[in-house]
Amino acid sequence: MAEAEEAAGVAEAEGLQERLKAYEGRVAVASGVGKDPVNAPMIRHWCEAMGDTNPAYRGPDAVAPPTMLQAWTMGGLSGHTGRPGRTGRSEAYDELLALLDGAGYTSVVATDCEQEYLRPLKPGHVVTFDAVIESVSERKTTKLGTGHFVTTRMDVRADGELAGTHRFRILKYAPAAKRTPVKRPRPVINRDNAGFWEGVAAHRLLIQRCAACARPRFPWLPGCNACGSQEWHAVEASGSGTVFSYVVMHHPPFPAFDPPYAVGLVELAEGVRMVSNVVGVPHDKVRIGMPVRLEFLRVDEELELPVFRAAAEGGEF
Ligand code: ZN
Repeated sequence: MAEAEEAAGVAEAEGLQERLKAYEGRVAVASGVGKDPVNAPMIRHWCEAMGDTNPAYRGPDAVAPPTMLQAWTMGGLSGHTGRPGRTGRSEAYDELLALLDGAGYTSVVATDCEQEYLRPLKPGHVVTFDAVIESVSERKTTKLGTGHFVTTRMDVRADGELAGTHRFRILKYAPAAKRTPVKRPRPVINRDNAGFWEGVAAHRLLIQRCAACARPRFPWLPGCNACGSQEWHAVEASGSGTVFSYVVMHHPPFPAFDPPYAVGLVELAEGVRMVSNVVGVPHDKVRIGMPVRLEFLRVDEELELPVFRAAAEGGEF
């Protein structure tokens, strides 16, 4: 932390605070228009997502939930057309962010928002909005790092009349010095799955097979889902399989993991599926149906894990 503060102190060039303050009161978003008028389908979707069954949001006299205020102003993935940048932000706001980036405050986190409701929004209302840069704080040190809070205030209008305000605060900061490396999480080993981990220690991938109905199962469970029998044998999987499905992890970042990486749902030749890393192929080249082969990866001095290496097909990856 001390190093980061020192670094930020160096970056806090003479006059930076004054230059930041000069953005207070400048336009952040000008003459925004909501992509859709206030409407019943969006209200219904919101209420379903929030589990809000308040009758005030249904029927011919419905109003929109007040907390939807910002939703009516959002530009979606395609952004607001005809406005500076895809986000609809003003040049002044982009300049302010660039100034902070240039001073070393390259990380950003949304910290809080406050809303004030002045009149209800109802289906049919046309939403317009504009926002100003309300304040840029002095330099502050937080647990995340040192930086400046930037607060914008958006005024939202319904058919031209002020309906509410949305005050939004971010922290632009220089990340605190990295902590000591974190180890990958340990597996939880209990009496139901201990046999599996003993197998891993011996470089054997063990699955269970029901003694009564012979159905293979994985992950390890005390009883058979098909027939209920609690009798089973451990059998060693051949180690060959195919990628049944997969995701590529980008976010959120977990300590000890280095995104992006592919997490595969691998179908073993024995007919059971297991989740593991697919290795030996770039994360964006993993494909459903890709043949894979078991191997054991030593993660650190205490942990080994079964992973699946993409079988080379037609040469190098
Ligand atoms: Zn069974």
